[in-house]
Amino acid sequence: MERKNSLYCNTCGTVYPLDSPRWQCSCGGLLQIDWHYTLDLGRVSDRRFTMWRYREAYPVSDDAAIVSFREGFPPLLRMPVQGTQGEGAEIYIKQDHLFQSGSYKDRGASVLLSKVRELGITYVVEDSSGNAGCAIASYAAAAGIRSDIYVPATAPPPKIAQIQAYGAHTVSVPGNRDAVAEAVAAYLTKNNPPYYAGHAWNPFFLHGTKSFAFEVCEQLGWRAPDTVCIPTGNGTLLLGASLGFSELMEQGIISSLPKLIAVQYEGYTPLITAMEGETTSSRPSTRLSPSSPPLADGIAISNPIRKDDIVKALHESGGGAVAVTDEEIEEALATAGLHGFFIEPTAAVGLAGAKRYIRGGVGRKDEVIVTVFTGHGLKSAGHRAVSSCNSAHQ
Ligand SMILES: *Cc1c(COP(=O)(O)O)cnc(C)c1O
Ligand SMILES: [Zn+2]
Repeated sequence: MERKNSLYCNTCGTVYPLDSPRWQCSCGGLLQIDWHYTLDLGRVSDRRFTMWRYREAYPVSDDAAIVSFREGFPPLLRMPVQGTQGEGAEIYIKQDHLFQSGSYKDRGASVLLSKVRELGITYVVEDSSGNAGCAIASYAAAAGIRSDIYVPATAPPPKIAQIQAYGAHTVSVPGNRDAVAEAVAAYLTKNNPPYYAGHAWNPFFLHGTKSFAFEVCEQLGWRAPDTVCIPTGNGTLLLGASLGFSELMEQGIISSLPKLIAVQYEGYTPLITAMEGETTSSRPSTRLSPSSPPLADGIAISNPIRKDDIVKALHESGGGAVAVTDEEIEEALATAGLHGFFIEPTAAVGLAGAKRYIRGGVGRKDEVIVTVFTGHGLKSAGHRAVSSCNSAHQ
């Protein structure tokens, strides 16, 4: 079978029609989507400022199936950042915490649930540290599709409450994020399982997150930034961004690929391990108290299933991986707050990574660096102790 406009296996090359309800190859391998389209910037500019202004880019055929809240196109704001080496560097921050379910995961959920509806599927299951579950549950609710969301028992209570507010059924799994993935995998081996809308596995999700790259380039005047720092656990934003920038490059819309920097969380640095010797890490990572919930819960992933693809994307872009500590995340979170941004701890990881990148002095002085606030502060509000209660009136 011809590969054009179809699903194909990363491992064995088997090709499946784009409308087969599959999220995995029969060999167990990961699926990719081969999708051909042309982006006509004239047509794009006539459309609403949502991620769907790049309509042709998404592998969904039926307009009537589209599940959308007119999401996307949050501002790309410039932020002053001090740093001895980085005087001239410009940092722009994409405001993805402003998505309707409170994180960038809506980009992936909108395309994935549109495809799910197009396929006539009525029941999906997903596992998530929280935000992907919120996004899938929200879009499933909008489409009238049943969703079950497997979450770690330690997920921030506001995220679980949000998932339940959408009418989704939550299954709380003790242990770490891997235990949650194993629980859902076991469930999927049962008879007649629901469709797996797992954001790390399902390739349609990545064809939604690629909208990040389109929007950033359009907001810069159809230019690529020099460097993009992305918080990375399973890599769904990083891989989407890589796909988006590459597609713009193939179509001649941008003339260079930005350097992609995966910003990992100390204690969860499989990419740095995989690229050892080529990148700068903070220090060797062993998280001492795995029982307490990680500060950057959104990227506390020790074994991303698309690790090889992520490493390849980093290599192709000339970028690499760095890791940031709890202290650096707290510092970036404070910086964000003092500039008027309320984001969750994981969402400060990109800024912490950008600061480390600038301080490392490896980039040019006048680089255009883009990073992203990935999730809203209300996602973890109340979860973290408020230490300033001692300043209460008398
Ligand atoms: C999911 C998430 C990330 C990172 O996504 P991965 O796909 O795991 O790399 C970053 N920040 C927030 C707030 C998230 O919810
Ligand atoms: Zn295969």
